[in-house]
Amino acid sequence: MTSVRQTRIQHVGEQECPRRAEGYAAAMFPLPDYWTTGTWASTQEEADAEVAEFMARPGAGGIGNVLWLYPGTQPRNCSFCGGGHPDDLIALIRAGWEMEPTDKGYKRYVNPPGHREYMKELLAYIGAVGSEYPKPRYPSPVPPVKLYVYHFGPEQIAAFNQALKEQRETSGE
Ligand SMILES: [Zn+2]
Repeated sequence: MTSVRQTRIQHVGEQECPRRAEGYAAAMFPLPDYWTTGTWASTQEEADAEVAEFMARPGAGGIGNVLWLYPGTQPRNCSFCGGGHPDDLIALIRAGWEMEPTDKGYKRYVNPPGHREYMKELLAYIGAVGSEYPKPRYPSPVPPVKLYVYHFGPEQIAAFNQALKEQRETSGE
């Protein structure tokens, strides 16, 4: 049976994920790899159907919210590693999305505008539990967009860093 998610995912370009060079699970997934669209649901109905289908599986945990709530186009994703297309991630940074480092040098998250401020408020809230501090409302029900550095060429790295620099200058940080 074709899942709700499978009917949404479309292949929009062939590629070979650079992560295959590490040998990471490469043998389990035959080439080619693709850039895909449709990682996230675009309507509440579609999201509800996907969550219901997932939760009906034996032993299913939670998958959170899968709905894309933001203006602009969803980024394309690598069918092998799930990383976002560099050009689409650069466009998100230009649109005010926020880069979040991880403990892995090759990985970043790209979060919706307001995420950093939310995390600050959340920490203040946790520090003030028991007081009347209002619980902040989470601005991003969507899982973070993943960035894997190995998908970026030198020019894309330069463009991404330039977009980050302009963002910092605009926000006065
Ligand atoms: Zn990949």
